[in-house]
Amino acid sequence: MYQREPTQSTTTATIGHFIGGKVIHRSGRTLPIEDPATGSTIRVAELADSDTVDEAVNFAQKAFSEWRATTPLKRARVMFKFKQLLEENADEICKLITEEHGKTLEDARGELQRGIEVVEYACGIPELLKGEHTPSVGTNIDSWSQFQPLGVSAGITPFNFPAMVPMWMYPIAIACGNAFVLKPSELDPSASMFCATLLRDAGLPDGVFNIVNGDRETVDALLANPIVQSISFVGSTPVAEHVYVTGTKNGKRVQALGGAKNHAIVMPDADMDQAANATLGAAYGSCGERCMAISVVVCVGEETASEFISNIQQGLNNLTVDSGFSSDSDMGPLISDRHLERVRDYIELGVDEGAELVVDGRNLVVSGHEKGHFLGPCLFDRVNPSMRIYQDEIFGPVLCVVRAHTQEEAMAIVDEHPYGNGTCIFTRDGEAARFFAENIKVGMVGINVPLPVPAAVHSFGGWKRSLFGDLYAYGPDAVKFYTRRKTITERWPSGGVREQARFSFPS
Ligand code: NAD
Repeated sequence: MYQREPTQSTTTATIGHFIGGKVIHRSGRTLPIEDPATGSTIRVAELADSDTVDEAVNFAQKAFSEWRATTPLKRARVMFKFKQLLEENADEICKLITEEHGKTLEDARGELQRGIEVVEYACGIPELLKGEHTPSVGTNIDSWSQFQPLGVSAGITPFNFPAMVPMWMYPIAIACGNAFVLKPSELDPSASMFCATLLRDAGLPDGVFNIVNGDRETVDALLANPIVQSISFVGSTPVAEHVYVTGTKNGKRVQALGGAKNHAIVMPDADMDQAANATLGAAYGSCGERCMAISVVVCVGEETASEFISNIQQGLNNLTVDSGFSSDSDMGPLISDRHLERVRDYIELGVDEGAELVVDGRNLVVSGHEKGHFLGPCLFDRVNPSMRIYQDEIFGPVLCVVRAHTQEEAMAIVDEHPYGNGTCIFTRDGEAARFFAENIKVGMVGINVPLPVPAAVHSFGGWKRSLFGDLYAYGPDAVKFYTRRKTITERWPSGGVREQARFSFPS
């Protein structure tokens, strides 16, 4: 079993930054980190100013010059070792996730597993960087393309997947030969800080992977730093748009994944038990704080709606809300008191807007955790697309049911929503499912699969205001994002044939 050196613990009271292969501390602003299940402060995070960001970027730039020259095979070996260390230390990583985020330990394990799958993909980097070669594009002329790293890449990540979303970025960026600076969410940075020590212990040279903790000031310093070549962002849409506009204006390559309002369509022929069970997990798992959470269900037909709602109500009777560390818990707390207030405001707004609050979780008290940020599951029926509870991303355990008459009407509702991250259809009809998959204006589509998060060998991204940029996260798109193509055309004259000067375009 792998043991961390005690002196290198990153879970002490004050969380600094990981720069040049070690944890460093800098004076300046700090932010308390809470356990959302108790509301008590468990750590304090330092917030990097622009000097600390520049320090990390400079370390990364220095490390890049040697790292880019290592063979892809050597980089893959670091990733293989990293994967092994992640598995050996999974319990500790998941404990940090649950402590700071609040999700259940089982959910944390699922998140880590999906992150590890991206590391496994990065282990195949020699194959992924093989390039393209064409012999004899002209007489005695060969041509090939190779994919070179960009330099220093930066990643900015949200609170809701503190281990997985950063792993969508840095394993592939690093395997491609880049150096990386991560700015994790200021609400739950410890899992990434711990993973940084594992990467170092896996043999990654100091300075290739760095972490600066902080908030918007830190992000703005990364966006302004001229050495940073690319930015990968995941978070809410307004911030994604800001990062995309500012980053591209500053000449950087940017992919910015934003928020979501994911719809499921339940057709009259669906297996109702399966549809309701799948929706329960997809809507309320992780307290609805997933970018792929189902937050709207469009039921086709009045009978479908009544049956579906009654199934969901029954399911909610058996759902246990408790600390993520409780083995009975299906759903933990929301991330913060501020967010809890925001979600509660939306529930009040929904009632004012005229939606029917069929299940009201506002009075829930979790015994022993009275100061935790808990909210019981909520279910709205007869939601109308003109309502704000329909339009806005609530990011909590609140499911809205909209009623439609036909599949076409249901699909038009989905298409008109400004977000286009994920969607799903529940049906037994292959023709309806195929029509849905072919025509719906959403980036990730499930057929009887409520959370169609693409496997690591594909790429993750939404349409419309859920993604700014051209390339998706992880998978083949990430290899493209973290490299730039260079095409070489080569001629070795043979047979003593001398070229005469030619003034027409080469053909
Ligand atoms: P957020 O936008 O508040 O924060 C994301 C990151 O941006 C954090 O690191 C934060 O420090 C930084 N940030 C916040 N405000 C900023 C500002 N004004 N200027 C510069 N940087 C700023 O998001 P969050 O609350 O941490 O996460 C939840 C959001 O993330 C939801 O909208 C969710 O849908 C989205 N999300 C999207 C995906 C996806 O793949 N599309 C995945 C996970 C989460």
